[in-house]
Formats: sequence, C-alpha cells, structure tokens
Amino acid sequence: MSLLGPVEVRALAEKLGIRPTKKLGQNFVIDGGTVRRIVRVAEVTRDDVVIEIGPGLGSLTLALLPEVARVVAVEIDPVLAAQLPVTVTEMDPEHADRLSVVHADALKVTPDDLRADRGDHAEDADRRGADADDLPALPDLPTALVANLPYNVSVPVLLHLLEILPSLRRGLVMVQSEVADRLAAPPGSRIYGVPSVKAAWYADVRRAGPVGRNVFWPAPNVDSGLVSLVRRDPPETSATREEVFAVVDAAFAQRRKTLRAALASWAGTPAAAEQALVQAGVQPSARGEQLGVADFARIAENRPRHR
Ligand code: SAM
Repeated sequence: MSLLGPVEVRALAEKLGIRPTKKLGQNFVIDGGTVRRIVRVAEVTRDDVVIEIGPGLGSLTLALLPEVARVVAVEIDPVLAAQLPVTVTEMDPEHADRLSVVHADALKVTPDDLRADRGDHAEDADRRGADADDLPALPDLPTALVANLPYNVSVPVLLHLLEILPSLRRGLVMVQSEVADRLAAPPGSRIYGVPSVKAAWYADVRRAGPVGRNVFWPAPNVDSGLVSLVRRDPPETSATREEVFAVVDAAFAQRRKTLRAALASWAGTPAAAEQALVQAGVQPSARGEQLGVADFARIAENRPRHR
C-alpha cells in the first residue's frame, strides 16, 4: 500500500502552493501507522461505500481505497479537491477508480451530492473477481463515515451527516481529544452536554483511542482522539427530532440552572416547565447533565401546547 509520509506531504503541499490554514482545520496526517490504524478500527469492508470528509492531500484516502468498495470524498478546498484524483492515480492506479471527489462544504451537502458514482457494474465484478450477476448491488449512498474531521466544524458536520444519511451504519472519526470525550460522555459526567445527547440520538458513541499531535503537519496545539459510532434507532417518541433537540439546547444553555428554570422560556413560564417535567417523570430540580436522550424526548412530548 502506498501511503503519504512526512516527505511526500510537504512536497505535495509545496508543489500545490498549499499553506495549511487554521480556518479550514488543515492539519495533514504524515504517519502511515495512524491511517492504517484508523482503517482497521473502522472495521470497513469491501461492501462499504465510505464517505470521507476533508480528504486533504489524501493520507487517509489512500489507506481506505484498497479496503472498501468506494470512497466518496468531500473536500471544501478547490485546490485539494482537484489534486486528489491525480495523487491517487499516481500512487495507487489499481484502486483510483473507486474514488469520487465532491468539491463542497460538508455542512451543506445533500444525499444527491453524495450518491456514489458506481461506474460499470461489470468492472466492479472484475475487481472483485466475481460475475456481475452474483454480486449484491453496491449501496447507492455511503454506509460508513471514516474521516479526520476539520476540527472547527467537527460536531456540526458529524450531526449533519447522521441526519441526512440514514444509510450510514457506522463511523470512525478523528476529532480533538476534548471533543472526543464530550461526544462519548455518558449522562452524569461533568463534560456531558449538547454534543453527547445529540450524537446519542443517532448512535452508540465510544472513544476508540488517543492520537498524539505529532502525527500531523503542521502539528496542532492539542491531541486528538478517535471516536467510533454505531447507528442505533432513536428513542421511540411522538416528538420530532427538532422538538427534542430544542429541549436539549434550552436545557444546556443555562447549565447550572435547574431544568425548571432553564426550560422556562421553552415552556412559557417556570410553572409550565415544571408541569412538563413532572409529566415526563423528571425531577424539576434536576439539571440537564443528569438526563439521557430518552428523558429529553419525553419532556419534548409534554411541551405545553397553549403558551
Ligand atoms: N484527511 C486529511 C488527513 O488526514 O491528512 C486532512 C484532514 S484535515 C484535519 C481537514 C480537511 O478538511 C482539510 O483538507 C480541509 O480543507 C477540509 N475541510 C475543512 N472544512 C471543510 C468543510 N466544511 N467541508 C469539507 N471539507 C472541509
């Protein structure tokens, strides 16, 4: 497998005139062991269509391509998006046709932007050494997310993809260590908050190991962490996702307040908030950090109608 090391990453950036920007969270992985580890922990297979957000110079993309059916890579930087197929064709011509690059902002992509361009089915059969007719059809939309996410937008990107792509069954993302802790935090923990509850709406979320800052060029100021996500059904509720998330936002906007006070404007008055909480079986004196996602759903169901 041909991978990018420190020399190749710097040479490629220089050739393209790329000066990594903080604004786009451009820290490129220069360590083959790290990208191999990400692919291994992601547990992706030849049946997966993988969405990678922010492929950058291609460090992780090159490690993914031999292991999966397709990679749909979404990159916001036009120079990096244009160069990626060139790099992959030069370094791994055998697997280059498994790559589709989408030049877009991951926060704004729609499923239509992400449909894997699957090419000819017979070609695919050829690659997999089977008759086209014997093969299960490749999924249209990504089944797995594997990405070293741009740090400044990591949580909104993750939530956006989980929302718009029910086809995503699992994910393995690299984010800032502190964000990894927050995403995977259980109720009752000091760092449990909005990202923890919203991610739990979609998936079982776990920390999947630390990553030091030295595997990047340029090295960021903080360490990173891997987070694994396995899709699960949201709690059964008559409330919509938007209604549940509105309760979550209100509950954590004033973290130190009791829920009775924090939800007063959401419900109309403190008394109305108290009533909704009692009906939901939640102590009005509790705080948001003590509740699980199903509790927030029950509170949303009991929002007073006439305020
Ligand atoms: N995957 C590469 C690696 O591991 O070396 C690069 C990861 S770097 C942390 C983040 C990448 O995300 C950069 O290539 C950056 O240009 C891209 N990016 C930043 N914001 C983005 C957005 N909103 N949508 C898509 N790509 C974005």
